[in-house]
Amino acid sequence: MRVYYDRDADLNLIKSRTVAILGYGSQGHAHANNLRESGVENVIVGLREGSSSRPKAEGAGFTVMTPDAAARTADVVMMLTPDEGHSALYSGDLAGNMKEGAALAVAHGLSIHFNLIEPRSDLDVFMVAPKGPGHLVRSEYVRGAGVPSLLAVHADASGNCQELGLSYACALGAGRAGVIETTMKEECETDLFGEQTVLCGGITSLIQAGYETLCEAGYAPEMAYFECVHEVKLIVDLIYEGGLAQMRYSVSNTAEYGDYSRGPRIVDAGVKERMKTILDEIQSGAFAREWVLENAAGQASFKAMRRRAAEHPVEEVGARLRGMMPWIGENALVDRSKN
Ligand code: NDP
Ligand code: MG
Repeated sequence: MRVYYDRDADLNLIKSRTVAILGYGSQGHAHANNLRESGVENVIVGLREGSSSRPKAEGAGFTVMTPDAAARTADVVMMLTPDEGHSALYSGDLAGNMKEGAALAVAHGLSIHFNLIEPRSDLDVFMVAPKGPGHLVRSEYVRGAGVPSLLAVHADASGNCQELGLSYACALGAGRAGVIETTMKEECETDLFGEQTVLCGGITSLIQAGYETLCEAGYAPEMAYFECVHEVKLIVDLIYEGGLAQMRYSVSNTAEYGDYSRGPRIVDAGVKERMKTILDEIQSGAFAREWVLENAAGQASFKAMRRRAAEHPVEEVGARLRGMMPWIGENALVDRSKN
């Protein structure tokens, strides 16, 4: 695995370009602000007419244009809008407007790897994918650090795409932490697998099942919340700091014995079998196809699932308990009026 740092990059490559950041959400606000503070003088934010993000981007002092106008002006166009809209955004606003020989960039490989976009052959196409949420990409940069990021070149029309992508990644702050070379395929498939089976899908289902089991057995919902939701962070912080071993060093012997002897009975060989099935669905493109169809149908089932999940009793108990712990909200990374 090759890892690059600031010293390997030529920051002037990106500083001399006009960069359009399409979208001013989680990643968009971080890229736009970090690049500007790294000395990229011409950063434009591209947002559609009537965008709810326009006041945030203008409030931060950016020139805002519609995506088609931004594409006509820019040398590098970074798409930081939701992946499911990339196809329409590219064909509607970018394909006919981007300058000859410009660069198209993404922060996640889904739309390129699964051919939702087929970029023009004169374009450089690269990915800079931060391994962290946009709000962390911003807060780490402000702190003088960075979030490690993946770099992949999909199309090297200019012969210089790798250097340009690395320059972009370093302006984002990633060169302070490490820019790891990969391919869109590897990034995209591992990212989908991680979020579906462990990080988002796995952990929420595990938390919810634990919470429900305690409540159904007659224990107080508040107790169930503390045990199965609140304390997840304490455990994950230890794992983050020093791996599974560090967490096991810190918890009691009783907890550690329960971990070894009971954990594998919960997450058993059947779970791994099903993880393999989910990986197959990702690799074959079946998941991407399903998600495209879901969007073509106006996200009907997605919205229903989102509503049902928000109505789960764990959310009501959680809101009440977090209200008793005001320090949790202090120094919050997300301020929905600004980022
Ligand atoms: P968000 O959902 O936060 O982005 C929303 C922004 O996109 C808003 O400013 C929205 O404005 C704008 N937008 C939506 N549709 C359009 C459009 N058609 N034209 C112009 N602007 C539009 O996205 P994320 O930051 O979560 O994700 C962006 C990309 O980064 C994705 O490819 C994602 O996979 C990737 N990524 C995200 C990570 C994260 O931390 N969230 C981590 C790593 C990669 P409006 O007010 O108009 O809706
Ligand atoms: Mg991910």
